[in-house]
Amino acid sequence: MSILVTKPFLPPIQAYQNMLERLWQTKMLSNNGEYVQELEASLKTYLQVPNLLYCTNGTIALQLAIKSLGLSKEIITTPFSYVATINSIIWENCTPVFVDINADDLCIDTQKIEEKITKNTEAILATHIFGHACDVEEIDSIAKQYNLKVIYDAAHCFGSKYKGRSLLSFGDISTGSFHATKLFHTIEGGCLVTNNNEIADTLAAKRDHGFIHKQSETFGTNARQSELHAAMGICNLQFIESILSKRKEDALLYFSKLENTSLSFLVVKEHEEYNHAYFPVIFPDEATLLKVMSLLESNDIFCRRYFYPSLNNLPYIIKTECLVADDISKRVVCLPMFHDLTNENIELICSLILQCI
Ligand SMILES: *Cc1c(COP(=O)(O)O)cnc(C)c1O
Repeated sequence: MSILVTKPFLPPIQAYQNMLERLWQTKMLSNNGEYVQELEASLKTYLQVPNLLYCTNGTIALQLAIKSLGLSKEIITTPFSYVATINSIIWENCTPVFVDINADDLCIDTQKIEEKITKNTEAILATHIFGHACDVEEIDSIAKQYNLKVIYDAAHCFGSKYKGRSLLSFGDISTGSFHATKLFHTIEGGCLVTNNNEIADTLAAKRDHGFIHKQSETFGTNARQSELHAAMGICNLQFIESILSKRKEDALLYFSKLENTSLSFLVVKEHEEYNHAYFPVIFPDEATLLKVMSLLESNDIFCRRYFYPSLNNLPYIIKTECLVADDISKRVVCLPMFHDLTNENIELICSLILQCI
């Protein structure tokens, strides 16, 4: 059987079925139903955040964040992320302004932010890439100095912490994705987290066509999520500790096989508790990467070039040079990482890689 870069975790089917039975009785399938409310409450407790809104997906979460903060001009962002980050900026009629990344953690290089700030800059939208923390303190301080809003794309961050706080709890708003490929998922789904109660009220209204007390009072959209998706989340959340600890073991095994070679890895920083959502490896050059991927594919093993090309090179973007992102995006690959991955799988993958490098 093929080994793919990721495979969704699924709870015991009986647990999910039991939850569905109740829906067949109540016939309440959507509109902020009891499972959505239960999932939101459990996630708030798990992540220790005051406000969390569950929504349709992580892309609409980013769009709602941009819309709710009233942004309409320039947003400083990272060239190294999934396309959802940039597409939501453009979809909300804002202009992305790229700032290159650090070569070690692949997050936005905070030393290069200030030179890109203009009178039209309204916000910084940064991604905690692969679940590793951006320099949240420096971003916060720049934002305060220039009166900018901060949004974090925390799609990879479920279970990651910085200084004991969930990475989903930073900035004016953090957004999450619960897509099936993510470490914690609800098949499709996303969330918005904010420490500001007023912003939370705005987001809640905008998620449901602006409805507050049965009346449409503000411009909104439909970002509601269904009870069937929330039920999957409630089931999966019960396994989160074992999902996280299994990933950590897998990462340690990968690392023990591949360290002291020409490959480089992202390091877990001081004060960071990492969720091991991904296992990115950086090759010395693109030719080696392609050689490794083709050998793996001939053995039915499929990695992914997360993220290639870098977003500053997309065809519908005004090209900006980002030397580090351009270079790294050509050399980085995520190795398979999922709950059922076996030690034998990892050993096979590593031995094939070692043949090529
Ligand atoms: C998955 C992801 C999203 C959002 O994805 P959805 O599929 O819309 O839930 C946003 N940003 C990043 C970095 C992602 O990886």
